[in-house]
Amino acid sequence: MTEYRYQRVLLKLSGEALMGESSYGIDPVVTERLARQIKKISDEGIEVGIVVGGGNIFRGLAASADGMDRAQADYMGMLATVMNALALQDAFEQQGCASRVMSAIQMNEVCEPYIRRRAMNHLAKGEIVIFAAGSGNPFFTTDTAAALRACEIGADCLMKATKVDGIYDSDPVRNEDAIRFDTISYHEVLVRGLQVMDATATALCQDNNMPIVVLNIEGEDNILRALSGEPVGTVVFQ
Ligand code: UDP
Repeated sequence: MTEYRYQRVLLKLSGEALMGESSYGIDPVVTERLARQIKKISDEGIEVGIVVGGGNIFRGLAASADGMDRAQADYMGMLATVMNALALQDAFEQQGCASRVMSAIQMNEVCEPYIRRRAMNHLAKGEIVIFAAGSGNPFFTTDTAAALRACEIGADCLMKATKVDGIYDSDPVRNEDAIRFDTISYHEVLVRGLQVMDATATALCQDNNMPIVVLNIEGEDNILRALSGEPVGTVVFQ
């Protein structure tokens, strides 16, 4: 049996991860592929919590820049994350994989309320827990919600799935000489202003010694490889 470096992980998926090549919404094929990759980890006995974003549907900050009240717009953004969470749960279910959606904003007809101890019980039973509605508070992001839930559930690491294969010293899309870090400290991420997660999320991980693994979700089995300790992506720690 493979020895894994991390036994309980909190995976942060941006809403865009469900969007595929489209510019809006949820692509069922991409969502199914993602769910299959995550199911593999769960089948290995690793406890998986997921925080999913909502940027493929609605972003509070963008709407407030267009004149909408920020808090109102953020609540709409949080509702968008619930739609993504339900789509993910559906994809898990279609593969016979048990999952729960727990929302930070109560909507008992569609999902469970977030109750920390109940979430821990689901995880211990091997069920995938999808945390929806971010932190439940406006003016935050789902990155910060992911850092918060990772700390709350005692995850061994926070994995941030992105479209790039780690953290670079500059944007690798614009600068072909950009250098990728294998490891980097929280302090350096914050001081250099690297766009890994927002500063609130990074600081919360720093304060609680929560390692952040940034990796490319598009590479099949990248998550499993990172869990086995292979040098996939970039690890942020003290
Ligand atoms: N949001 C919020 N509080 C939270 C998490 C999210 O208000 O704790 C809102 C915010 O408007 C944000 C939107 O939900 O723009 C979608 O989340 P995010 O932008 O983090 O999604 P992602 O970029 O990961 O898809």
